[in-house]
Amino acid sequence: MTANDQILNAHQQLTDTINPLYRFSEKLEEACGVFGLYAPEKSVAKLTYFGLYALQHRGQESAGIATLDGNRVHIHKDMGLVAQVFKESTLNKLTGKIAIGHTRYSTTGSSQKANAQPAVLNTRLGHLALAHNGNLVNTLELRQILTKRGCNFNTSTDSEMIAVAIAQEVDKGKEWLEAAISAFQLCSGAYSLAIGTPVGLMGVRDPNGIRPLVIGILEGDPVRYVLASETCALDIIGADYLRDVEPGELVWITENGLSSFHWVIQPKRKLCIFEMIYFSRPDSIMHGETLYSYRVRLGRQLARESTVEADLVMGVPDSGIPAAIGFSQVTEIPYGEGLIKNRYVGRTFIQPTQQMRELGIKMKLNTLKDVLVDKRVIIVDDSIVRGTTSRKIVKALRDAGAKEIHMRISSAPVTHPCFYGIDTDSQTQLVAATKSVADIGRQIGVDSLAYLSWQGMLEVTEEDPNSFCSACFTGDYPISIPEIVKRSKLLVEEAKT
Ligand code: SF4
Repeated sequence: MTANDQILNAHQQLTDTINPLYRFSEKLEEACGVFGLYAPEKSVAKLTYFGLYALQHRGQESAGIATLDGNRVHIHKDMGLVAQVFKESTLNKLTGKIAIGHTRYSTTGSSQKANAQPAVLNTRLGHLALAHNGNLVNTLELRQILTKRGCNFNTSTDSEMIAVAIAQEVDKGKEWLEAAISAFQLCSGAYSLAIGTPVGLMGVRDPNGIRPLVIGILEGDPVRYVLASETCALDIIGADYLRDVEPGELVWITENGLSSFHWVIQPKRKLCIFEMIYFSRPDSIMHGETLYSYRVRLGRQLARESTVEADLVMGVPDSGIPAAIGFSQVTEIPYGEGLIKNRYVGRTFIQPTQQMRELGIKMKLNTLKDVLVDKRVIIVDDSIVRGTTSRKIVKALRDAGAKEIHMRISSAPVTHPCFYGIDTDSQTQLVAATKSVADIGRQIGVDSLAYLSWQGMLEVTEEDPNSFCSACFTGDYPISIPEIVKRSKLLVEEAKT
């Protein structure tokens, strides 16, 4: 067996171990939300709690907060939603002037408490606490390098590997900034990080800036700084948006204020375009506008490209609603609600009965029969991944009496999996990777189906198309992916290219 075959075998074993633990999601799932706070006051943990509460949509499996109090660290993390994991009494024990918070949905490492973040390690200079949003693509190589250097791991996450790499550089004698920058040279992939140390708070984005990270300030004396995946987490605690952390930038917040280090010679802008289409909250601001406004414009463009005669335009709650409103504005077909979402479903750890499973989507969405009966309906959603949810929704609308159902999608077909921190399974699971639009329409049972064109998406986005990662629509991956990792998700022909 060649060395390469051995690596392939090891990788297959790893994949086999991990895959049963992955959930087959109906939507693309954001992997994580990160939050960091530098605030010399008592309520550091409580502000972080509310920041995480606003970032709940970015990860619903586990939540955690670590606070640094000089050389002491306090941490609480567990499986569940933010409101389930923390009580007031828990927060009161998390003292210190630096806090790191995290909400998680696993993409590497299984869904278990040990893998919850922040990752906390002790070093020569005291503790470090790290929260990560994204996904490294060179974890096999990185693990080998660090293992050879004598490092041990407590979890199976790439996030711990980044923390271990930094801790190792510190223990070799470097100071925090130098150690972090050295460690990042070993990392390839997507990483937006909030890192707490005894002396300061660090915010970092990878050289392509795939995942977002913003800086906020809480006015006062002294000014308190906030790092968060999205601006909605600043709003909830009354912080003002200062600016984005730039791709390849490290910001270092200490008692002396905020300093910035650009540690990459030629950073690129490759923000995940799906953050704008779906992942980030509609009230978060990117490129100077709320994502709600952007998504309404996607719907307006969709209407210009593919309207059809109908009595009602409706969105799939909640993510399809802004685009449905835009669609209705252009076509002047009345906008209405035909599906009501149970907003309190959350993640349940109680398995539904078989009979309930057969009821399909009704735990999450229910139909308004009197709105739908005998209507020709245009239903707008942001994307189709596997098509299973769309099929259930269409069936529910038909059962409620809709006469015609025309589905419109406010993004282009998702044909490629993500390697940068979004939970997509292999390409074979993506319905648009192997089927034509007409075939997908037949599979989900609609009278017609149309997607927003790729060109239409670019027009609406109004930014340089090269400043986004759009690989799940185009297959053009901005960070090269090791062959072995490609083969774990891409169709054989694609993996060869
Ligand atoms: S592959 Fe798709 S989901 Fe992943 S970062 Fe790129 S655009 Fe976003």
